[in-house]
Amino acid sequence: MADVPAECNIKVLCRFRPLNQSEIIRGDLFLPKFQGDDTVVVGGKSYAFDRVFPTNTTQEQVYNTCAKQIVKDVLGGYNGTIFAYGQTSSGKTHTMEVSYFEIYMDKIRDLLDVTKTNLSVHEDKNRVPFVKGCTERFVSSPDEVMDVIDEGKANRHVAVTNMNEHSSRSHSIFLINIKQEHVETEQKLSGKLYLVDLAGSEKVSKTGAAGAVLDEAKNINKSLSALGNVISALAEGTKSHVPYRDSKMTRILQDSLGGNCRTTMFICCSPSNYNEAETKSTLMFGQRAK
Ligand code: ADP
Ligand code: MG
Repeated sequence: MADVPAECNIKVLCRFRPLNQSEIIRGDLFLPKFQGDDTVVVGGKSYAFDRVFPTNTTQEQVYNTCAKQIVKDVLGGYNGTIFAYGQTSSGKTHTMEVSYFEIYMDKIRDLLDVTKTNLSVHEDKNRVPFVKGCTERFVSSPDEVMDVIDEGKANRHVAVTNMNEHSSRSHSIFLINIKQEHVETEQKLSGKLYLVDLAGSEKVSKTGAAGAVLDEAKNINKSLSALGNVISALAEGTKSHVPYRDSKMTRILQDSLGGNCRTTMFICCSPSNYNEAETKSTLMFGQRAK
């Protein structure tokens, strides 16, 4: 599989997972029709992205096609963000491989120190926003990165909804800061990469939510639409106003979105006809970024 062209800084990639066991048992139909390597047809309408990954795509193919280049660029001193967007159980976490702090009900919780439950966003002297007081760990090998991720995962806020699986009702954000110094020239290079596993994008009605869970869902919808507005303003490429300040998440990610940054959005979809409405709205969200 060839690399996705590098000239455009926001890439939108779409991935469909296979039908799962309960969908097969229920007799669900397989909806998407894949055309070429960048188009999918759902319910008679076609949606084009930078790349569409059909259900048989391996993790390695996904990584080689996009993540590898971003990681390379971040090592070269650029900032970047990789998002996974989609309804619960569509394959977001599966696609990110990693799952730290989380934003839940617009409050930032430190996933590496559970006593820090409401961190605030500050700006440094260059006016770059950062999460004040967030735990930082020094790691020097991929194994150490995985250990930190496991620790964060165990602390992640999870509430049960009526969807088949436990749904993650918060955005989880993993920041990798890379600082390099050339031993001989003493030249310094730094880049950062955000991995953002977004909360499920499903509509409230389907999950039968009420009370606190309904507030939660409204909050998620609000922050996802703030993200959509930022991405589509960036994709338009005009010098028009980019509404970063409308949510905590977009404020934090400001210096790693758009401009010179490498931004990749994975649009994750279920192939089942049972989820057709959600899949269409997920695909539409992805189209706004193009
Ligand atoms: P989400 O994070 O969007 O809620 P998950 O990534 O947890 O969804 O995926 C839900 C389930 O589907 C998991 O058991 C996962 O292993 C499986 N799954 C997701 N995507 C794929 C895929 N492309 N191929 C095989 N299994 C997948
Ligand atoms: Mg998940």
